[in-house]
Amino acid sequence: MPLIRSWIDSANAPDTGFPVNNLPYGVFSTPGSQPRLGTAVGDRILDLHALEANGIVDFGGTLQGTNWNAFMALGPAAWADLRRTLRDLLREDSADQDRLRPLLTPMADARLHMPFAVTEFTDFYASLHHATNVGTMFRGPENALPPNWLHMPIGYNGRASSVVVSGTPVTRPLGQVKGPDHDTPSFQPSRRFDLELELGAVVGVASDGPLTVDEAFDNIFGYVLLNDWSARDIQAWEYQPLGPFQAKATATTISPWIVTAAALEPFRVLTPERKAPLLPHLADTGPMLYDIALSVGLAPEGRAETVIARTNYREMYYSSAQQLAHHSSSGCPMRVGDLLGSGTISGPDPHARGSLLELSWGGKEPLTLDTGDTRSFIEDGDTITLRGHAQGVGYRIGFGECSGKVLPARSVRT
Ligand code: CA
Repeated sequence: MPLIRSWIDSANAPDTGFPVNNLPYGVFSTPGSQPRLGTAVGDRILDLHALEANGIVDFGGTLQGTNWNAFMALGPAAWADLRRTLRDLLREDSADQDRLRPLLTPMADARLHMPFAVTEFTDFYASLHHATNVGTMFRGPENALPPNWLHMPIGYNGRASSVVVSGTPVTRPLGQVKGPDHDTPSFQPSRRFDLELELGAVVGVASDGPLTVDEAFDNIFGYVLLNDWSARDIQAWEYQPLGPFQAKATATTISPWIVTAAALEPFRVLTPERKAPLLPHLADTGPMLYDIALSVGLAPEGRAETVIARTNYREMYYSSAQQLAHHSSSGCPMRVGDLLGSGTISGPDPHARGSLLELSWGGKEPLTLDTGDTRSFIEDGDTITLRGHAQGVGYRIGFGECSGKVLPARSVRT
């Protein structure tokens, strides 16, 4: 599909992330106003609260809230309806330009908020390259992959309460870490605080029983960039036998625009060749990954950013649809606003690794930044920024930025 030209000039620029082909959903405010729903078009935001309040569209008042959950709950027919309507209103030959112009806000004047209320958060471990790298470091190359890994997407239940929107500062966690004598731990600020480059799938349809992979695919409303901040020293001490807990509880940052599954439709790609056949309920039924170029930037306090990793979402072993199908397979109820983290996205190339743990190989090979600074893990004052886009012919589907600055740890209270 080519670029859909708009009467908003900035939406036609080849390097904007927000052409009419995209139309991602977010929540914005301007000084003195309440947060309200909007869609990004070029360098503008169209106020969808006002669009519905003015009677130009009618989605039963679901565009009047402060998050997208009520609209998502209307289901896929309404999702397609709003998308088609917005596309018609914003395309070059639209007769509605004069009515819509007053509803546009320059993005530069807006503050972006959490786009949806996160009802639950689950995080997976579904990149073969990442799992092999981490497993090799922790258990050696012979035991890198646990025996279950090639048969199901491994996950854990995280905390919805710690999910924050891009721009929110992140305080370095305190936690128990293993002492030098390997037994007596100490309680201290994490010294191995890390990022994880992920894509988050937003569930838009509630379910109460096992979903097929195809049903799961259709229940996903859209995707966000996701940084699953991780304290490796806390993780190493706590993770056996029940998995991550406090190491992953500090914060998870998401990008402010939900890029819809519909916008990503032209970019679907197959999962990689299977190393072992999947059981029928998780088997591939078609292309369910996406070709999304991803990068990670690190900027020390007051200094220029260095891009430390570039990879692609197509490198994943399991799709979000397979993760959701597995998640629901026991009968686990899924809710509108459920957030599923893909797991760290790493590619085969050493520069395509989605965490500092891998990039610095456990701290043994520190990175040298463009500024001359070196990093094994994140230092106080560093800002980490994830970016992503799907590249079409003459246009791109952008996610915006997923950014967070790390602040010093709180003092220890006893
Ligand atoms: Ca993770």
